[in-house]
Amino acid sequence: MRDLSRTAGPGGRRLRMTVFCGAGPADPEYLRAAAATGQLLAERDIHVVYGGGRLGLMGALADAALAAGGEVTGVIPRALHTADIIHPGLSRLQVVPDTATRKQRLTDLADGILALPGGLGTLDELACVWAAAAHGTHARPVGLLNTCGYYNSLVDFLHTAADAGFLAHHHGLRLEDLLLVDDDPVRLLHSVASRTGLPDTALRAPATARGAM
Ligand code: AMP
Repeated sequence: MRDLSRTAGPGGRRLRMTVFCGAGPADPEYLRAAAATGQLLAERDIHVVYGGGRLGLMGALADAALAAGGEVTGVIPRALHTADIIHPGLSRLQVVPDTATRKQRLTDLADGILALPGGLGTLDELACVWAAAAHGTHARPVGLLNTCGYYNSLVDFLHTAADAGFLAHHHGLRLEDLLLVDDDPVRLLHSVASRTGLPDTALRAPATARGAM
């Protein structure tokens, strides 16, 4: 298994991971999973890109990443650019005209994508990146963090869609390309990061790298 104790993106820049997740109030185990993911990404020196919010899992993710010294960029539509919605402590905030532009920007900025538990906004973002992958307009790996089986029914649906032949007409699309699923953030990050197409050397770093630098 590759050592992802630190990661670097193309040209030595930080790997960027876009995270979709719920903005609403959530059960503590989902909030804990979001915080664990934020901390993990920061500790692996991965730049977090997300929707820029302060609420729910979004806030838990960003708070934990920032507390661990991570770099966090938010991308927010102008209509949501209000103090009660945006996270106040982000490294960077990009304000875009509308939600469609945000979805595109969140994909464009990413080397890989993680979806944590969330509601319709998260589902919409996921569907957009999967549809774009199906149509060949991007090839970023997408991982589902299946905390407490949250995404089981969505995974079942995708199997049903594949069995019914609704995925096969997308040239080259394989069900396993859509289904990077794990309930463990470390394993999920590994499977997503190792499919970013980066050379092994960009993903490998000695376990002691952080202490040595
Ligand atoms: P939902 O899953 O319905 O809570 O929507 C969350 C997803 O939609 C996030 O990944 C965001 O990109 C976007 N989003 C929805 N509501 C908000 C909000 N209040 N603040 C920031 N982003 C939001």
